[in-house]
Amino acid sequence: MKPDDSPTLSMALVAHDQMKDTMIEWVTKHRDLLAGFELFGTGTTGGRIAEETSLDIKRLKSGPLGGDAQIGAMIAENRLDVLVFFTDPLSAMPHDVDVKSLLRLATLYNTALAINEKSATLLLSALRT
Ligand code: PGA
Repeated sequence: MKPDDSPTLSMALVAHDQMKDTMIEWVTKHRDLLAGFELFGTGTTGGRIAEETSLDIKRLKSGPLGGDAQIGAMIAENRLDVLVFFTDPLSAMPHDVDVKSLLRLATLYNTALAINEKSATLLLSALRT
């Protein structure tokens, strides 16, 4: 666990539709650790996490309706420490420009980023030490 005097880190959770079940399973598995973060989620992802895990998570707009852009703005304003974004590698997204923009900003601002489950687990275990 984090030392008591360390600041609470912020984390955004986003999952494309075909990856939402994977996200819920991952969040459920790591619920206790994730409870130590200030959590944000895009609308549908965040809604499912709140309903199915009872974690305290701030819901932004749905990704295609501006939620991805809201997270991008948090990154640009240095208000986000970690982004866990389970992207769907098999489907074209109508809002692909938003997805690209978010990943570009996370790269530009050197934000801790995981785009699949194994990376997210490794990132989480690194953050807890
Ligand atoms: P959603 O958005 O959680 O509102 O479905 C995810 C996304 O960016 O596609």
